[in-house]
Amino acid sequence: MALVGRGVLAGLGVTLTTFFETYPWGRAVLRLMGRQHTNGVVTIEYPDVKQQHAERFRYFPFLVYDKEPDNLRCVACKICEVECPPQCIHIVGPAKDEQGRPLKPKGRPYPVEFDIDVSICMSCRICVDVCPFDAIEMDNNYELSDTDRFGHLVYNKEQLLRPNEYFQQIKPTEASVVDQRLAAKHAKAAAVPPAAGAPPPAPPGPAA
Ligand code: SF4
Ligand code: SF4
Repeated sequence: MALVGRGVLAGLGVTLTTFFETYPWGRAVLRLMGRQHTNGVVTIEYPDVKQQHAERFRYFPFLVYDKEPDNLRCVACKICEVECPPQCIHIVGPAKDEQGRPLKPKGRPYPVEFDIDVSICMSCRICVDVCPFDAIEMDNNYELSDTDRFGHLVYNKEQLLRPNEYFQQIKPTEASVVDQRLAAKHAKAAAVPPAAGAPPPAPPGPAA
C-alpha cells in the first residue's frame, strides 16, 4: 500500500513540475529550487505555428532521383510492392522495348508506373528497409489533407519524385549514410573492369 502511495505522489510531482515548467514564473521557481526544466507542455497554435519534428519523424514515402527526374534510382524490382503490408504500392514495369528487353536510358531499368495509395499507407517504412537501391525514402510532410480520396490520395510516379537534395535537407543524418553507401558502391563498380563489348556499369547513386 505504501508503495502505491509513493507512486501516486511521484506522478503528482511530475504533473506539478510540468505545470510549473509551462510558465515563465514557474520555470524561475524551479531554477531557484535548483531543478532542471524544459519549456513544459504548451498548445501550439497550428497552422500559424508549426512544430519542429525530430529528423526521424516519418509520414509517407517518396522516390529519390539524382540530378534529373528521369534519373530515378528505382529499377522496378517490385520488392517493396511485395513486402508492403497493406499492399498500397502498385508498380508497372520495368519499361521494355518492342523486343521485350528492359530499357536502360540511364544504365538501369525504370518503372513505367509507380503509385502509392497514401490513404492506405501506414508509414511502416518497410518499403525503405527492403529497397536494395536506396530508391525510396520517408517524407516528413504531413500537410496532405484532401477532400478527394480517390482522385488525390493515390500518388503517381511524378508526384512521388523528389531530388536527393530534398532528402539531404529533411533527413541529413540518414541521407549522409545513404550517400556514403552509394558512393562506396559506385567506387566498387568503377573498380571492376567491364567485359569486352559490355556497356558501362549502371550508376548506383549520387556519384553518377
Ligand atoms: S511505408 Fe509501409 S505501408 Fe507505406 S508504402 Fe511503405 S511499406 Fe507500404
Ligand atoms: S523502390 Fe526499391 S524496392 Fe521498390 S521497386 Fe524501386 S528499386 Fe525495387
